[in-house]
Amino acid sequence: MTSLHGQNLIGYTKSADGSDTFQSVDPSTREALPTSFHEATGDEIDRAMQLASAAFLPYRNHSPEDRATFLETIAEEIENLGDPLLEIANQETALGLPRLTAERGRACFTARLFAGMIREGSWVDARIETAEPTREPLPKPDVRLMHRPIGPVVVFGASNFPMAISVAGTDTISALGAGCPVVVKAHPAHPATCELLAEAILAAAKKCGLPEGVFSLIQGRSNATGTALAEHEAAEAVAFTGSLGGGRALFNVASQRPRPIPVYAEMGSLNPVFLLPGALRDRAATIAEGFVGSLTLGTGQFCTNPAMVLGLDGDDFSGFVDDSAKRASQVPPSTMLHAGIHASFLEGIDSIRSLEGIEVAGESPGADPAKSQAVAVIFQTEVDRFFQHEEILKQEVFGPSSVVLKCQAKEEMLRFARSMEGSLSATIHGTEDDLRENRELLDILETRTGRVIYNGFPTGLEVCTAMHHGGPYPAASHSHFTSVGTNAIYRFVRPVCYQDLPQFALPPELQDDNPRGIWRMLNTTWTAPTA
Ligand code: NAP
Repeated sequence: MTSLHGQNLIGYTKSADGSDTFQSVDPSTREALPTSFHEATGDEIDRAMQLASAAFLPYRNHSPEDRATFLETIAEEIENLGDPLLEIANQETALGLPRLTAERGRACFTARLFAGMIREGSWVDARIETAEPTREPLPKPDVRLMHRPIGPVVVFGASNFPMAISVAGTDTISALGAGCPVVVKAHPAHPATCELLAEAILAAAKKCGLPEGVFSLIQGRSNATGTALAEHEAAEAVAFTGSLGGGRALFNVASQRPRPIPVYAEMGSLNPVFLLPGALRDRAATIAEGFVGSLTLGTGQFCTNPAMVLGLDGDDFSGFVDDSAKRASQVPPSTMLHAGIHASFLEGIDSIRSLEGIEVAGESPGADPAKSQAVAVIFQTEVDRFFQHEEILKQEVFGPSSVVLKCQAKEEMLRFARSMEGSLSATIHGTEDDLRENRELLDILETRTGRVIYNGFPTGLEVCTAMHHGGPYPAASHSHFTSVGTNAIYRFVRPVCYQDLPQFALPPELQDDNPRGIWRMLNTTWTAPTA
């Protein structure tokens, strides 16, 4: 049986200095689970950050091979936790064992994907411009550039991905892969899952002979705990996934420090879906099936939930709305992640319900509030009403709720697209002729979102080298960066330029004989490892 201790993990040491404790709650019964977790004290936060700071240079100087092996060992240690990890995560989140099994697979796949990239090594984007001492009118120095790790990173995970966006999620894996120590603020809704994953990371760090402080876990359910981490002098960056309110609060904290640091916050989004006439004519029922599946997957608790759908008025669109409403009304209610998210969901749908001119097209019956259950709801209205109630309708309602907007003309769709705030994704359903005729829509969407999807749905993110999961604010705090996929590593490095350094003093990636065997830009030409 897996035993839990409820303590903070400060480097390789368990710590429970404070008397303030909390328990996680099974959302399906609303009963507290047995383990008491110790809210970290200011002293514990300071110790974790000081250890991370002390570990930075020794850890950074471990070879890429060591870091890759570390990430692979983390994946192995997580797998070694076996079923108890899944069972505890299920008790804390009610996400269900199949989903959690898949999510564990995604987390381990991500660790191994990063390991492969770090071992190969070209991601550091090495550039070499050799000296021209005889150049006129001035000699050209030897100038070399590559990405180097930034320093200790504070990670905040989200409640809806207890494995893939939590203690051992992409934020932690990409920061460790870059060469940065990590201090994770455990999510208060799944502290036991966090503890098990943190123990797996620490076991891997010990096996790999890495310095104490390369990883720590801080438990806490108060905003003050997270704020103290983001304010700590030793922190060099914050990675956050969660609500707009939380991300923005931490962004403000980090900006107001005497020495501001970046906060890479991935937040919520409306992920609009545009239905073009050809697609509706050809396959309205298939689109309705896909839409309701995407909307209700995981009780709608995805940042990529399709929360707004637009189409041109007509029989095909009406058929789509009726079909979607019927399908939604047949989805059984299901338990949300925690009572707070459940309460916010009810508040969100009630505020939409109360708006003038908006009606419920379909809603599933029978939710039991004692089990934190949510129903699927599809609202419908005219696009003009969206502009009338913009303040409310632009806010994310986290859960299985979507608003379908009827447009009278193509220009109304374009008006909506132009008014869009930054979104993680935007989807177009259409034929290729539709796409050609709506080039302007595609152009506008590219300016509003991090990912444009054609004839698919926004949920189910592919973890790969070409993924971008981010977008203009408020989808993310920095539109340049992604929190999913291998490019996530660029949040935790910065370019360092070396001018006229002797060969032995350069990082191996920049030495003339290319001992790491990586792709490099040599005097403006990309050069293959063997060249
Ligand atoms: P959350 O309530 O914002 O919590 C995320 C973490 O931040 C927790 O550890 C929380 O701990 C901390 N936190 C929140 N507000 C804080 C503040 N003001 N100061 C310091 N720390 C703070 O989010 P959630 O409930 O876990 O997740 C649901 C939200 O995440 C949804 O809006 C969803 O769309 C979004 N999400 C986004 C993505 C994405 O990739 N963009 C992915 C998944 C989820 P404390 O409660 O202890 O403060």
